[in-house]
Amino acid sequence: MRQPLVMGNWKMNGRRSMVENLLKAVMIDVGDLAGVDIAVCPPYPYLGLVTDRLAVNGIVACGAQDVSAYTDGAYTGEVSAEMARDVGCRFAIIGHSERRTLFGETDEVVAQKFARAVAADLTPVLCVGETAADRDAGRTQEVVLRQLSAVFKECGSGAFTRAVVAYEPVWAIGSGRAASPEEAQKVHRFIRDVVAQKSAQAAAHLRILYGGSVKAQNARELFGQDDIDGGLIGGASLAGADFVGICRAACIG
Ligand code: PEP
Repeated sequence: MRQPLVMGNWKMNGRRSMVENLLKAVMIDVGDLAGVDIAVCPPYPYLGLVTDRLAVNGIVACGAQDVSAYTDGAYTGEVSAEMARDVGCRFAIIGHSERRTLFGETDEVVAQKFARAVAADLTPVLCVGETAADRDAGRTQEVVLRQLSAVFKECGSGAFTRAVVAYEPVWAIGSGRAASPEEAQKVHRFIRDVVAQKSAQAAAHLRILYGGSVKAQNARELFGQDDIDGGLIGGASLAGADFVGICRAACIG
């Protein structure tokens, strides 16, 4: 049985006061939830603050939104996976579509970041997913396979032994138009099958999250699909009640 994971990606939002308030709301309201893992990914400047606060309740974990493809050294502006781990992160989002499209991250760079996260003892959350144009051209599986293959090439056949994959169709992110549970399930199944070709055991344990316009209202049906093991949540993770509602929808206990 794979325990669901719900992860909030706060992106480049918030100030110290918002971070404090959001954390308080989430930490109080998730107290009674069982059978779900929860994590939040604040902007870098707030990572230490968040991990300090979260250490008190021990229920919610912290993740970085990205890590450098390099280890420590003369790389101005970069934040290494080791640093994220050192301040208490357990996860790192890798290859979010905003990093790929806005900051030019190639599949190869994403794979290097994935490797750095694993080496630093972080659990990488690899984001994969097709654009609207890819989807319209019937290229969803081809794109997802290419993105997964780059990680296998860099990290070997055991790459997903300790990792999470997030299927995030680019057209669904922030659009208010989530994939239907059936269409998301189809891609999640495909992802698990691709991983199973390298390692049946890794595939069986791999948590595959869905991301793209998840709300408390559509979460239960999405998370009810066989191969959907929780969600990566953008916009709705910025409101405590909405995020907790999504976490509640993922509860199996
Ligand atoms: C995201 O950016 O990872 C995301 C899923 O965003 P949203 O939930 O706002 O669609």
